[in-house]
Amino acid sequence: MRIILLGAPGAGKGTVAKVLTKLDGAVQISTGDILRGAVQADTELGKKANAFMKAGDLVPDDLIMDIMKDRLQEPDCKKGFLLDGFPRTIPQAEALKTLLGDLGIELDMAASLEVPREEILNRLSTRRTCENSTCQAIYNVKSSPTKVDGICDKCGSKVIQREDETEEAITHRLETYCEKTAPLIGYYEKEGLLMTVDACVTDDVVKAIQARLKT
Ligand code: ADP
Ligand code: ZN
Repeated sequence: MRIILLGAPGAGKGTVAKVLTKLDGAVQISTGDILRGAVQADTELGKKANAFMKAGDLVPDDLIMDIMKDRLQEPDCKKGFLLDGFPRTIPQAEALKTLLGDLGIELDMAASLEVPREEILNRLSTRRTCENSTCQAIYNVKSSPTKVDGICDKCGSKVIQREDETEEAITHRLETYCEKTAPLIGYYEKEGLLMTVDACVTDDVVKAIQARLKT
């Protein structure tokens, strides 16, 4: 499967992607995870991206496209991919279309995960992330807590609240989403690739995507 997951921060793109990758070997590509990994490793990319991310602003399109151009040509993408958090702007979507055209790759769909705003706010303020850059497992203090308080079940590292998950940064990220990313819904509708799905329950999203792939 070759799928773009669209949706506000906290809509569950990462969670849905993780479930779907287990089903057929497609890889999850999360630009957020790649960028956080680069910030932790303090690479050139990380140095450039850090300030934007902390403020809840988008990282410039050209940096993102450099990452994705390389990433989509890695051998593991041959089995398919789930794009989680990319594209995030119309210019990124247009650049992606050109890139995929050049690589001879066709998308199956862009799935837009819809969740009410209160639920988003609630999810983000209670979200916790494993600080180990190679793990980055996601928990929720209410709905999916760690077994041992503050410790990642998968790797034993500390589980933290992300710097961009303070109330102020969350509000700003949601504004950025409405302004820059929500227009992609119309873009993919015109491209004939859009599927909208109620994303309050992860399993329902997975089922809807699977059903659409079969048609
Ligand atoms: P979210 O939980 O908001 O979906 P992500 O983990 O996808 O968060 O992204 C975290 C941050 O990384 C964003 O706020 C932004 O600064 C940066 N980022 C991730 N993907 C992109 C992208 N495609 N374009 C620009 N910036 C991005
Ligand atoms: Zn971990």
